[in-house]
Amino acid sequence: MSRFWSNTVKALTPYVPGEQPQISGLIKLNTNENPYPPSPAVLAAIAGANHAALRLYPDPQARTLRQCLADYHRLTPEQIFVGNGSDEVLGLVFAALLKHDAPLLFPDISYSFYPVYCGLYDIEYRTVPLDDSFAIAVDDYRQPCGGIIFPNPNAPTGRLLPLAQIEALLQAQPDCVLVVDEAYIDFGGDSAIGLVAHYPNLLVVQTLSKSRSLAGLRVGFAVGHPDLIEALERVKNSFNSYVLDRLALAGAVAAFEDEAYFRQTRQAVIDSRERVSAGLAALGFEVLPSAANFVFARHPQHDAAQLAAALREQAIIVRHFAQPRIAQFLRISIGNDEECTQLLAALAGLLAHSDGSK
Ligand code: PMP
Repeated sequence: MSRFWSNTVKALTPYVPGEQPQISGLIKLNTNENPYPPSPAVLAAIAGANHAALRLYPDPQARTLRQCLADYHRLTPEQIFVGNGSDEVLGLVFAALLKHDAPLLFPDISYSFYPVYCGLYDIEYRTVPLDDSFAIAVDDYRQPCGGIIFPNPNAPTGRLLPLAQIEALLQAQPDCVLVVDEAYIDFGGDSAIGLVAHYPNLLVVQTLSKSRSLAGLRVGFAVGHPDLIEALERVKNSFNSYVLDRLALAGAVAAFEDEAYFRQTRQAVIDSRERVSAGLAALGFEVLPSAANFVFARHPQHDAAQLAAALREQAIIVRHFAQPRIAQFLRISIGNDEECTQLLAALAGLLAHSDGSK
């Protein structure tokens, strides 16, 4: 704390990103990155970009990328907004669309960045409990509100909400913006992007960080009615006009042009997820059904924090949230084949050699 801080800064509780340790040989299953490298076409596009042009600002409207995304999703560029990772897109969404007199609604167990944005922008919010099976109960969102946001699949649970329930909520709340954060949708669900043309109150946010293996490039986007997109542009252009650099723009376009690689790596992650889920269940874990690139699991006899610490001693890092309702869960990102095998072997060893005290 310093006397130079503004009152806003003093009151902030910032988001804590998953750690990125610089240790070689680590099995890093804590931040839901993709275990496979980006498409070779992405790397070629970045290498082949006109590097001399880096002296020039990039296109502030990112027209090439927005057109590419529009073609991919059968939309128009006016329905698309791009940003520096979906975290930045979400930050702009909170400022542009979710600050109203009535409270914003989101699940009690959800992406922990949401309350942080509320703190930054002074947005009132109310959390809505997940049901006992850790699923979003859409009917609980039929209450007066200034907006609704949740991830689908939800994080950190991995549970998917069927599209029909999202559509029912859009119909029940025509005067509220519903933001569906689809960071993980490619690993197991139908996107709500198809509903955008029918519901002017729907905004869908996606990222290239997970299913396109590009967490390091920082590209995310939002899809919605042009009026919603214009709100985002207004805030963006009041803050930083050039959110995506030239290399990111080139790489992002190439990622959407290599559909075969996308499908192949996505399927590999899905297959590994099913193997890890089955392996954990065989070890006695309760595993929530996951539609994401991670699983959320708890063991009735073994303390989650202790398991996480013991895995860390074997250079395997998973995520544990010391938070009500989920303190006994581990969130485990899906690694490559070898990493998944080592994770299951390590847990089998730990369970066999501990007395199960909890
Ligand atoms: N939404 C959810 C639900 C996430 O888990 C993440 C990843 N931490 C993000 C958005 C942000 O991802 P990125 O900024 O890399 O696009």
